[in-house]
Amino acid sequence: MILLDGKKTSADLKVEIAESVKKLKTEGKKTPHLAAILVGTDGASMTYVNAKVKACELVGFNSTLIDLPEETSEETLLKEIQNLNNNNDIDGFIIQLPLPKHINEQNVLMAVNPDKDVDGFHPTNVGKMTLDLPSFLPATPFGILELLERYNVETSGKHVVVIGRSHIVGRPMSILMSQKRPAGNATVTVAHSRTKNLKEFTLQADIIIAALGIPEFLTGDMIKDGVTIIDVGITRVEDATKKRGYRLAGDVDFKSVSPKSAFITPVPGGVGPMTIAMLLKNTLLACERKS
Ligand code: NAD
Repeated sequence: MILLDGKKTSADLKVEIAESVKKLKTEGKKTPHLAAILVGTDGASMTYVNAKVKACELVGFNSTLIDLPEETSEETLLKEIQNLNNNNDIDGFIIQLPLPKHINEQNVLMAVNPDKDVDGFHPTNVGKMTLDLPSFLPATPFGILELLERYNVETSGKHVVVIGRSHIVGRPMSILMSQKRPAGNATVTVAHSRTKNLKEFTLQADIIIAALGIPEFLTGDMIKDGVTIIDVGITRVEDATKKRGYRLAGDVDFKSVSPKSAFITPVPGGVGPMTIAMLLKNTLLACERKS
């Protein structure tokens, strides 16, 4: 069993990005600048946004965090987005999800200039991705492709079962894996909450991408030997033995699944760190495209 080490791979990526930033600076070009909007005080969202800002500092980017109160109106948020769209110094920006219930997520994501949409959530970028045109790939699926490539996991002609059909992970992942690309050319099955007899599909899979958000859902009896496992899930599970009162659980029961796997991502330290690294990569691309 080989661990697909997202912590190490993302650290390597950050070194590469930092080198590109240094080169831009010595050439007198613009320093990449990422902005993030956070609405409210959700604990997990605050942790993610702070990690993104810290990662910017590490690679030499400029960063701006716009911290708005929970009661911010949709109109105010849309104005903030217009400001970022019009600000030439900002190369890319993200709106941390989920948003408070009174704000329409679609309206917000549609307001982002697609050229600055480094999360790759705008329909223009989703459409371009689907047509295999240059676009910003959503960070989590982009990170998974990068991990598969860097560990030389063979995907061509393989049967990939993606569990979950969300707009940010499952759906784009299924599209990307079926495309003609280095980590692609696979035969893809998309499973979701209405799928019957899921085990029949997972037992046939060469690669399983679990993105459903149910801790330790995929167990050893559901997979064949030699499978590659990508565990996207991150759920906070109460744990009194931990100082912070919880532990992070993936969608895969690592204990029963890892002995049968050829490759597997751990949680934490697998897909999570890759997501942040790919957001930086998209921001670098956005900056380079402008110059
Ligand atoms: P989501 O809730 O939007 O979607 C979950 C999907 O799982 C749905 O499409 C649903 O149909 C499917 N599903 C639910 N129950 C199922 C079942 N019993 N069998 C088969 N399919 C089922 O979730 P999401 O935003 O895609 O996130 C999924 C998980 O990945 C969460 O734990 C989330 O925290 C995590 N996540 C991690 C990262 C990262 O960087 N590592 C990024 C995004 C999401």
